[in-house]
Amino acid sequence: MENTFDVIVIGSGPGGYVAAIRAAQLGYKTAIVEKYTVLGGTCTNVGCIPSKALLDSSEHFHEAATKFKTHGIEIDNLKINFNQLMKRKDEVVKQNTSGLSFLMKKNKIQVFEGTASFLSNTEIKISSSGKEERVKSKYFVIATGSKPSSIKGVDIDKQRIISSTEALALKEKPESIAIIGGGVIGVEMASIFSRIGVKVTIVEYADSLIPTMDKELGKELKKVLTKNGIEILLNHKVQSAENLGNSTLITYKDEKDTLKEIRADYCLVAVGRKPYTEGLGLENTRVKLDERGFIQTNAQLQTAEENIYAIGDVVPGPMLAHKAEEEGAFVAEVIAGQKPQIHYNLIPGVVYTWPEVASVGLTEEQLKKEGRAYRVGKFPFIASGRARAAMESDGFAKVISEPKYGEILGVHIIGPRAADLIAQAVIGTHYETTDEDMFRIPYAHPTYSEALKEAYLIASGQGAINL
Ligand code: FAD
Ligand code: NAD
Repeated sequence: MENTFDVIVIGSGPGGYVAAIRAAQLGYKTAIVEKYTVLGGTCTNVGCIPSKALLDSSEHFHEAATKFKTHGIEIDNLKINFNQLMKRKDEVVKQNTSGLSFLMKKNKIQVFEGTASFLSNTEIKISSSGKEERVKSKYFVIATGSKPSSIKGVDIDKQRIISSTEALALKEKPESIAIIGGGVIGVEMASIFSRIGVKVTIVEYADSLIPTMDKELGKELKKVLTKNGIEILLNHKVQSAENLGNSTLITYKDEKDTLKEIRADYCLVAVGRKPYTEGLGLENTRVKLDERGFIQTNAQLQTAEENIYAIGDVVPGPMLAHKAEEEGAFVAEVIAGQKPQIHYNLIPGVVYTWPEVASVGLTEEQLKKEGRAYRVGKFPFIASGRARAAMESDGFAKVISEPKYGEILGVHIIGPRAADLIAQAVIGTHYETTDEDMFRIPYAHPTYSEALKEAYLIASGQGAINL
């Protein structure tokens, strides 16, 4: 029957589209259902891609404003064209979503536009603009992602009290933004806006920025962002946010519990995201949610219905596009009877500020908590010839290794191109190399990667060459 498939994937974010492509490659008759008119999910439309496009544009402007003169490049009347900045971002998103439509055609994946809702464990209905269609499948993959969450006293009204989705699509450059949360979204959005001249205040509950990463990274990031004009309030508890019409009023308690307030054109809420399963009709299946709303699965990412799998932001784990992608390929291969593996301990975390922050493996705080012995090698970019040539001397590369054999336990970088540098640390950690193995291989000179070579050298106890 035409409307019967082997695999139906619900949601077309990085988890969903990868699952669909892999399933099709493995020979399954595959369909994907997306409730929006474009494919790509959060990541492509309102997440990774538009934020990175704006981060790049704003960083070019910031460089031109703060570094070009020293490089001997003088520009008169440097200014931001906010509409063009946003237009380029929209074009980048469009290129990516069109690319996905092409990939669906290329892999003969049927695309359904509409909201999927389970009628049973073998049938869904797809609703779109009053129309309804029923489709059957042997297997289903739920990849419905996540939505922004908020805190008590703060309602995201999408007008003045906004999430990253609205912040990435503002029509005019605001004068000021207060950001609740100094996690990944908080610091990336703060970077975009402060670089183009918006007054930015971050109000963070924890005692550091990006608090789940190695503490030294957050400390260094705070230094750099403060130098760039962002006001950062740590250990501050937001009590409420109010839309005043043309601005917002945010009240918070400082470290001493004194009630204070700030006004800003917009209040951006960046306190985390929650799994999204609304309207999926899970009540018509045996699929279970945990107490935080995530879909419960076993290690094969199989729900309580053995033909229904769940992946990406809607299941527990880091809410990252590359984690969702790994899981997408994984479930397709599991369905095909293969024995794939996901290396959850090797999923890198990257923050696209400048300098970038990137991390893999264990942090010093985790090792201390576990009472494990470790040694640290840390090399500052200010001592790197490549970084000096590029005027990129903020940050450091930090390697944590096990003292007896030198096995690499964690690598934490804040510095230029850290997002790309972390790949070699992931490979090194995966193959259980030692700090000595990692510095006894040649690194091109002059490159940012040499900072890592020196950090491995210091961690091994043999002393740096260039420090
Ligand atoms: P999603 O991408 O959320 O896709 C889910 C899709 O399912 C959506 O399109 C939704 O419309 C659809 N859907 C939901 N319910 C139904 C239904 N019933 N029927 C049909 N369709 C449905 N991660 C990174 O790794 N790197 C980054 O740089 C990065 N930057 C980010 C920046 C921002 C501002 C944000 C918000 C997130 C960022 N992320 C980043 C996180 C990343 O976007 C998510 O981890 C990723 O998108 C999760 O993928 P997913 O496939 O699980 O779900
Ligand atoms: P997050 O968990 O990274 O950060 C939330 C921050 O809000 C934390 O620092 C937390 O301490 C703080 N917070 C919580 N309650 C607060 C309160 N009452 N007052 C002040 N601060 C409070 O979440 P996010 O930044 O919203 O990002 C959501 C998800 O999107 C993350 O899981 C992240 O992995 C993903 N994301 C990834 C990237 C990337 O990979 N570069 C970029 C953006 C988003």
